[in-house]
Amino acid sequence: MRGPCVTMDAAEFRRRGKEMVDYVADYLENIEQRPVYPDVEPGYLRSLIPTEAPLEPEKYDDILADVERIIMPGVTHWHSPYFYAYFPSASSYPAILADMLCTGIGCIGFSWAASPACTELETVMLDWLGKMLNLPETFIAGTHGHGGGVIQSTASEATLMSMLAARCKAVRYVQASNPEKSQGEILSKLVAYTSEQAHSSVERASLIAGVIMKKVPTDNSYAVEGSMLKKILEQDKAAGLIPFYFCATLGTTPSCAFDHITELGPICKEESMWMHIDAAYAGSAFICPEFRPLLNGIEFADSFNFNPHKWLLINFDCSTMWVKEREAIIGAFKMEPLYLKHENQESGIITDYRHWQIPLGRRFRSLKMWFVFRMYGLQGLQDHIRKQVGLAKEFESLVRADNRFEICAKVIMGLVCFRLKGSNGLNELLLKKITKSREIHLVPCHLSGRFVLRFAICARSTETRHIQQAWRHITQLSFELLQESQE
Ligand code: PLP
Repeated sequence: MRGPCVTMDAAEFRRRGKEMVDYVADYLENIEQRPVYPDVEPGYLRSLIPTEAPLEPEKYDDILADVERIIMPGVTHWHSPYFYAYFPSASSYPAILADMLCTGIGCIGFSWAASPACTELETVMLDWLGKMLNLPETFIAGTHGHGGGVIQSTASEATLMSMLAARCKAVRYVQASNPEKSQGEILSKLVAYTSEQAHSSVERASLIAGVIMKKVPTDNSYAVEGSMLKKILEQDKAAGLIPFYFCATLGTTPSCAFDHITELGPICKEESMWMHIDAAYAGSAFICPEFRPLLNGIEFADSFNFNPHKWLLINFDCSTMWVKEREAIIGAFKMEPLYLKHENQESGIITDYRHWQIPLGRRFRSLKMWFVFRMYGLQGLQDHIRKQVGLAKEFESLVRADNRFEICAKVIMGLVCFRLKGSNGLNELLLKKITKSREIHLVPCHLSGRFVLRFAICARSTETRHIQQAWRHITQLSFELLQESQE
């Protein structure tokens, strides 16, 4: 007879936990020795592991050995100082430890009763962060506010939630003066708008919400101006459509451009449209007074979102979203089965974050915010942002000093868009060479029909020497490429 299976008791967990902390610290300290981009082909992993889960327990040491043998060869090292792709994924030791605590507590905080600390710390952390950004008072929950913040998993979810709330509000609004109109009839006429430079998640939200989406053209700095939105709105209203939602972007994904929200906000107000602001990457920088003017116009927004898990040293996932009127989001999706009700739900504070999101379950993510805010302080966080913007400016200067290259968009934060002067094909080849070398990692974008390389400062450990090394590498590969193209 087999005895009770004790896979790992508390004593062993203590020992293995300390080992794991060492493993992670070693990994992060020595990460630049690893090629930033993996050298594996699709399907590489299946051939390295059994086709079925084991019947008998295996040894922990064997599993750990397989991490280096099977997993690490297929990892793209996002925290390598040679990783310059996409936008950053934040990481810091206090956030990693807080995440460990979150997993240890293991509560599912969908309501106040399901874990009061989980709900209450989240509201207070969103207030703390809202104040760091100097958000208008209407977004702060406090003890009597009508607004407040929530942690969503991703910016995509925040956009979708705002669009669904706006859709619900628009249907009710139209029906109030046209009670004969069916919901289906109204929905078929609702139009959401965003920039042609907006992240694909905005268009995706419209597909999920089942509403028409129109893209607004941008000016020569890749930003939407008020006049551009106004023109499309006039045409659409004349055609009998109902504009209901605009998603502005502060810090677009291709080039980190900023829509003119001081012009767009009043138009949205006039047209009774919901304005959501997606500042997924750039939002973190608004804690610095020198970047805060880019958020002017926020007072017109109904909802605002950015990802501290991108640039504020809080590990994924932590996407913070604020609304002015929380009833607009809570009231849109309320379900009250008996097993989720509790006696404190009408206490006046935010008690049930389950109404603010798509899933029911939610982790204790505000612990990460609390640990990071307390260990870095506002000044430490500002230093981090400023250092990374400084590194981007250093890279920009290197590019500008070499007349074979051009800068393709204004460098405002930690992203540099650049290319070799020449054809798209030439730049595509350069990126292929860079990716194949596995020494640095970048992704491209299209700007005004041109193939452009994006260089985003990502890892917390990136220093001037890494930027210089990356530039030497790019110029070396460009030199080889230009030689080859002349042969
Ligand atoms: N919005 C913008 C402007 C982004 O840059 C990104 C991703 O980089 C997203 C949305 C999507 O972010 P998430 O992965 O949090 O949904």
